[in-house]
Amino acid sequence: MTLAERMQRIGVESAFDVLVRARALEARGRRVIHLEIGEPDFPTPAHIVEAAKRALDDGWTHYGPPLGLPELREAVADYVSRTCGVPVGAENVAVVPGGKPVIFFSMLALLEPGDEVIYPNPGFPIYESMIRFLGAVPVPIPLIEERGFSFDLDVFRDRLGPKTKMVVLNSPQNPTGGVIPRQDIAAMAEMIARRDVMVLSDEIYSRICYDGGFPVSIASLPGMAEKTIILDGFSKTYAMTGWRIGYGVMPAWLVEAVGKLMVNSNSCTASFTQRAALAALTGPQDAVEAMVAEFRRRRDAFCAGLHGIPGFRCAAPGGAFYAYANVKDTGIASAVLATRLLEKAGVACLNGGSFGRFGEGYIRFSYANSFENLMEAVEHMRAMLTAA
Ligand code: PLP
Repeated sequence: MTLAERMQRIGVESAFDVLVRARALEARGRRVIHLEIGEPDFPTPAHIVEAAKRALDDGWTHYGPPLGLPELREAVADYVSRTCGVPVGAENVAVVPGGKPVIFFSMLALLEPGDEVIYPNPGFPIYESMIRFLGAVPVPIPLIEERGFSFDLDVFRDRLGPKTKMVVLNSPQNPTGGVIPRQDIAAMAEMIARRDVMVLSDEIYSRICYDGGFPVSIASLPGMAEKTIILDGFSKTYAMTGWRIGYGVMPAWLVEAVGKLMVNSNSCTASFTQRAALAALTGPQDAVEAMVAEFRRRRDAFCAGLHGIPGFRCAAPGGAFYAYANVKDTGIASAVLATRLLEKAGVACLNGGSFGRFGEGYIRFSYANSFENLMEAVEHMRAMLTAA
């Protein structure tokens, strides 16, 4: 028996491989500081956990509607209307088990073999994996460090062609932490608005933004609501990665298609999890604010620390919880350096090249770890590179 041919085209995420290698070192008695995995190190806020417990006691343990509980879809629509300035209704919302399924379902519903998809490189590896899996054509656009990890708009204009079916945007970004400035989003919207192109706008880090307020969503620009799928969810904002819940906001005709894919795959998102998500969206937001304030404190100290390591350069990024250090001046290939940092300095981190070829020469560190551990990691890395 052989696997279907398409299985040769699907990718994985290297963060999980590095985690396995780090755990193997720990099993041999080595201390490792984990800066590889992209999840908040904070507990899910207590009132959200309480809402889930109450939901279990109240019998929210059965199937629900495939696209989500009506009250949660309403709450998401209200939240997105308020924060993105796009007037959307519950009919535009699909609640699914995480942010990732929004990528999976929207690409599955829209892409034909041969369709071109523009996406950021370096970028979240699942974009390219899904594009290839579906036989569509990946069109990576480099993110430019000197432009705060935004696209070069001339390159973007160049790549946008008659076969472009989808454009993937991610801001704030994984892995760079970059936030695409409003004027760049506006310029891309203008180029896309006249075309038959859908935008998948991955806004999973929208609340983890350090420059005040919400980053601009392309959906809010003229003519773009009908062409945009907003991906967001609860994993990062409310430290709920293991709960598996997220949502997509999109035109109603696409919601209907996602509903069919949900019926054929998950049936629905867990009902008690949805009750907890409702509490997250409608309850107090102080835990989110406290988490973002602590991330900012770590970002400032950690990036300054990285910047002081021989051969490293790292500007403080505008969002998410990743520091993306340029390590080209070390003269060591970033894949080799990431392995040495793990094995010699005990710091688990990711080679930028695992986010696409334009990520070579960079290392991604997740600062979702304690302030003390981050400072210790800087010391170990500095010692290793000073001795090199
Ligand atoms: N999009 C980006 C850019 C991410 O970094 C992640 C998670 O790392 C996701 C989507 C997926 O989020 P979820 O865990 O809710 O599926």
